[in-house]
Amino acid sequence: MSRSRTKAGIKNTAGKTDNKLDCPCQSGLLFEQCCQRFLDSSLAHPAETAEQLMRSRYCAYVLKDEDYLLKTWHPDTRPGVLHLDDSANRWIGLTIKASHLGQKTDCTGMVHFIARFKINGKANKLEEHSQFEKLNGQWLYVKGDFSQ
Ligand SMILES: [Zn+2]
Repeated sequence: MSRSRTKAGIKNTAGKTDNKLDCPCQSGLLFEQCCQRFLDSSLAHPAETAEQLMRSRYCAYVLKDEDYLLKTWHPDTRPGVLHLDDSANRWIGLTIKASHLGQKTDCTGMVHFIARFKINGKANKLEEHSQFEKLNGQWLYVKGDFSQ
C-alpha cells in the first residue's frame, strides 16, 4: 500500500519538518517557494513546465515521495512500485544542463540533467535525457536515455 501524503516537508536533522530550507533541486530558492507546491497534493498545483516537473521529481526522490513519483509518471511507462526505502542512494545535487520544448504551450519536452548521489559513501552521478509528455494538462515523465 502506498502511504498517503498531504503535505510535503523536508525533515531537518532533528527530525522536524522544516520548509525554510533550500530546495533540494538547487534552484537557489527555498523549498516552500519552489517545488513544495508541486509535491503538496493538498494544493493540487501541477508543474507548468517539463523542467519544473523534473525538479519536483528530483525533490520527490530526495524526500522518498513515492506517491508523487508514480503520479507524475506516464501510465505507459510507469512501474508498479518503486523501492525508494530500499535504495542506498543519497541524492546530493541536481544540475539542469538543457531543456528542449516543455514550455507551457508545448505537449512534449526533454530535459538534460545531471543528478549526483552518494552510495555507500562514494560520490556518483547520473546523467539523463528525460522525455516528458503533457496529458490532460499535466506534465508526466515518460522515460530517460542515459548517457555516460
Ligand atoms: Zn525546487
